[in-house]
Amino acid sequence: MPRPILATIHPEGLRHNLGRARQAAPDARVWAIVKANAYGHGIERAFEGLRGADGFGLLDLDEAKRVRALGWRGPILLLEGVFELRDLELCSRLDLWHTVHCDEQVDMLATHKTNVPHRVFLKMNSGMNRLGFTPQRYRSAWTRLNALPQVDEISLMTHFSDADGATGVADQMATFASVTRDLPGERTVSNSAATLRFPISAAQASAHPDTLVASDWVRPGIAMYGSSPDHPEHNAAHWGLQPGMTLSAKIIATQDLQAGDSVGYGSSFTATQAMRIGVVACGYADGYPRICPTGTPVLVNGVRTRTVGRVSMDMITVDLDPLTKAGVPAGFGSEVTLWGRAANGTVLCIDEVAACAGTVGYELMCRLAQRVPVVVAD
Ligand SMILES: *Cc1c(COP(=O)(O)O)cnc(C)c1O
Repeated sequence: MPRPILATIHPEGLRHNLGRARQAAPDARVWAIVKANAYGHGIERAFEGLRGADGFGLLDLDEAKRVRALGWRGPILLLEGVFELRDLELCSRLDLWHTVHCDEQVDMLATHKTNVPHRVFLKMNSGMNRLGFTPQRYRSAWTRLNALPQVDEISLMTHFSDADGATGVADQMATFASVTRDLPGERTVSNSAATLRFPISAAQASAHPDTLVASDWVRPGIAMYGSSPDHPEHNAAHWGLQPGMTLSAKIIATQDLQAGDSVGYGSSFTATQAMRIGVVACGYADGYPRICPTGTPVLVNGVRTRTVGRVSMDMITVDLDPLTKAGVPAGFGSEVTLWGRAANGTVLCIDEVAACAGTVGYELMCRLAQRVPVVVAD
């Protein structure tokens, strides 16, 4: 028998969350962002749940090939554009739309030989200072692109640095709105956080053209996978999101501790009274963060309890007393939910575990370890 640990992908949850993005942006088309192997879910495994999207956004050319290999004929957008000249040949061959964020990419396009002009997304650096043309240089980049026979339609794009926090998007949006005001083309500005927190309708944008932008395409990633983009201000339940992934394992041993007994490496947890613990077949080599302290939430047989002691490579230890108190028997073979949905329907959101590790749901999803078997729920 394989070691009892399993990640389960939930197409139903992904489909539901994609629907939430659509509800939040009813006038927009939706790029399902599937970079980083669909945020660790696996592009092929996530595809069934996300095929209702209008397009797929990613940044690895191999991932674009994989989406085409799944039979997807609709739009695919390379979020970072091309990295070298020959990538443009693949764009021509697979009909990939691509971001243009720097002069070097315009230069490459200008030398690219193609019979089919490309659809490009010209990116503005409206304040995040990673990719894109500054507002001062944006229009000249547009003019240069527009003159190239290799270029078909130009769409306009930016990315927000603070859509999930107190700063918000107003300044970046106003910069983008005022610079692009009279340029033709579709707009795409919103990630998950902006889509849910700052929905802008076409009517609002046309009433305030210098400050507001309505996305013709929204670009949700994290929310589709069931993690709240602005946790802990709002949790996944607040946004009506369902888990896209469950990480589950089983109890492989129990120990009855007396007061003064300690647990695991470094003896970092010491029982203050008699208690029962379960040893779970999941550790940091499975992608569970080693930094999670005693008290990190976990479900056993769908009942919420906590980890005790240090996370080791292959095991963690959990407090079984809350189950005893709830009258739920637990022992060897009991189901443990590290994040996601338990068999009884109880949900432990990945964001809660991430917060205990001082990180975000994104990172936990993406670093699910290779050794964990993954199945797709039906
Ligand atoms: C990753 C990414 C997104 C999606 O962001 P989420 O916060 O996961 O919704 C959107 N746009 C771009 C350019 C990205 O790189």
